[in-house]
Amino acid sequence: MRFQRPDIFRPPSEWRSYFLPLTRGCSNNTCTFCNYYGVRLQIRELDDVKREIDALAAYIGNGIRLPNVPQIVYAIGRSWDGKRVFLQDGDALVYPFPKLREALHYLNEKLPNLERIGTYATPQDILRRNQDQLRELKELKLSIFYTGIESGDDKVLQHVAKGVKRQELIEAGKKVKEAGITLSVTVILGLGGVEGSKQHALETARVLNEIDPHYAGALTLTLVPGTPLYEEWKKGEFRAVSPFRSLEELKTIIANSSFTDCFFSSMHASNYLSIRGRLPQDKQRMLKEIGAVLATRDSSLLRPEFLRGL
Ligand code: SF4
Repeated sequence: MRFQRPDIFRPPSEWRSYFLPLTRGCSNNTCTFCNYYGVRLQIRELDDVKREIDALAAYIGNGIRLPNVPQIVYAIGRSWDGKRVFLQDGDALVYPFPKLREALHYLNEKLPNLERIGTYATPQDILRRNQDQLRELKELKLSIFYTGIESGDDKVLQHVAKGVKRQELIEAGKKVKEAGITLSVTVILGLGGVEGSKQHALETARVLNEIDPHYAGALTLTLVPGTPLYEEWKKGEFRAVSPFRSLEELKTIIANSSFTDCFFSSMHASNYLSIRGRLPQDKQRMLKEIGAVLATRDSSLLRPEFLRGL
């Protein structure tokens, strides 16, 4: 089957990157809340990846357009500064290791000004790699992993079919840091529903503390039509938390945090309130900001539903 280029779905901090697809979909397509649910994984041929790198290098270096190259290469390449590449798609770390190594070598050879390469990485992908492999990837400038933790509560992880337990999340997170790779994780407010809200927030704080990531981002659950969790919600089997309840969870996570040095944010478009800061030093200021909104219960202080994004 011909490789279909995926839509661009990236972490906010990768906005300046060139988006290079190695895969389409996600190898762990079981998570019942995710828009990758059920999407079949496609692995791109290495030769095809190399052709795109050749085209990009020729365009960046000399303005040359090679034949039979998708227009998007030039559309992204036109305003690209040559420094960062983000590997698509949902978990490009699943790309077979020898091919991944070769693709990274090729990127470095053809685009010598590259400073950083990033990828989404599932905990399962990370656990499949040994420490030497991770270090080798780091040497080849694959130096930031974005990993969805979602929740620290085993009950929630099982309910949403994440495919890993909290202990594996911790193990995967620590492994990345030991390899010298920057770790950016996300958690999802509201994923435990109304009944599991308190435990979800407390256990998520505990897992985050144990991993002690460089970056942590909170997202807020958005129920996506077509996913099993959406169906559960429609049938009344899953009760979604209110916007203010999601802020209570955010407050609990920050209040219970004991990070060494972590940039924490809820700037993602899915959230009802955007805050950010470095923990531990900004903890009181961040709690005050959330507390002030919670005290008013004024909906006009929240991001309106129609402006929320995935
Ligand atoms: S592992 Fe991540 S990208 Fe893949 S289905 Fe689960 S939440 Fe979605």
